[in-house]
Amino acid sequence: MLNFAVGPVMMGQSTLNIGLEQIPYFRTENFSAVMKQNERLFKSFLNAPENARAVFMTGSGTASMEAAVINTLTKNDRALIVNGGSFGARFCEICSVYEIPYTQINCDCGKTLTDAQLLPFENKGYTAFIVNLCETSTGVLYDLRLISDFCKRNGLLLIVDAVSAFLCDSLDMSKRQIDVVITGSQKALALAPGLSLMCFSQRAVDRILANEQKSFYFDLKKYLKDGERGQTPFTPAVGIILQLNNRFKEIEAKGGAAAEIAAARHKAEYFRAAIKDLPLEIFSDNPSNAVTSLTLNDKSKSAYKLFELLMNEYGIWLCPNGGDLKDKVFRVGHMGALNDADYDLLVDALKKGLRSEKIKK
Ligand SMILES: *Cc1c(COP(=O)(O)O)cnc(C)c1O
Repeated sequence: MLNFAVGPVMMGQSTLNIGLEQIPYFRTENFSAVMKQNERLFKSFLNAPENARAVFMTGSGTASMEAAVINTLTKNDRALIVNGGSFGARFCEICSVYEIPYTQINCDCGKTLTDAQLLPFENKGYTAFIVNLCETSTGVLYDLRLISDFCKRNGLLLIVDAVSAFLCDSLDMSKRQIDVVITGSQKALALAPGLSLMCFSQRAVDRILANEQKSFYFDLKKYLKDGERGQTPFTPAVGIILQLNNRFKEIEAKGGAAAEIAAARHKAEYFRAAIKDLPLEIFSDNPSNAVTSLTLNDKSKSAYKLFELLMNEYGIWLCPNGGDLKDKVFRVGHMGALNDADYDLLVDALKKGLRSEKIKK
């Protein structure tokens, strides 16, 4: 299997090796030390402020999207949510369920957010800003500096879903004054799905501590308290946390987040250069290093059928899109254990697949 999906992604050999081992009991000094080291390394990769806190949530990225929003915001907040695809829409749904007031800033699929779109919301009494740094459904990377400046000017709490952007695109919590960062195990961390990670600024921690409890499992006050001694309120995904520890130590040894981001950028640039002469077009503006979304020039052909053909005939997994984009767009990920030779195989298969009659709509 050669997997270019945007999560789960190809895991490295050392991660796979740990997956073969038995899972230890976790209410121990040893496991607490692993958790504390994970918190320290996660904060360092984000350049988080000294007093920031990390929380490890057993649940996919959406669990942390929900936990972060309902613990830092209340019915008295007014949030701005960038909605440019299915992950932006998800934040709107979460706020709707918990009756947190919000306004959506709609971005057309694959289009970036502009200064002009933010202008109407200056000095309008908003209290929080929520954005998916990379909207993985289209691959667009939003302009974090633009957003950060807007939040600084307007005093907004800044919540950044970096589930796919973490370790792929530049992300500096201190420089951009980000209050909440969310990521997940099955994207660039290249681990099994089931664990998500959050990091909170002091300002976000204060909000969590002052907020009333809205959920039992997602009550982050408990996670922050237990986290002080390297523990979690409930049984965490122990196996994935051990794999995370190994992965974090490897990343640190290889030069930290910057080296990971450079590797993702290399994969993205290598692939984009290799498909220059293929009958494909990049779908989104300002594409993230995490993923390239593509449309077929020949509109009589189906992106979804191309996905099926590469899977069935070459054992190569692209990432299909859903909904209105199903026949129009497919994605190629740049996360996980993939090298140039893997992309050469993919490009070769794409060349043949795109010529095939089998992908006619
Ligand atoms: C993958 C992803 C998520 C989390 O999705 P889950 O399926 O819950 O893990 C959230 N936001 C973005 C931008 C993502 O790419």
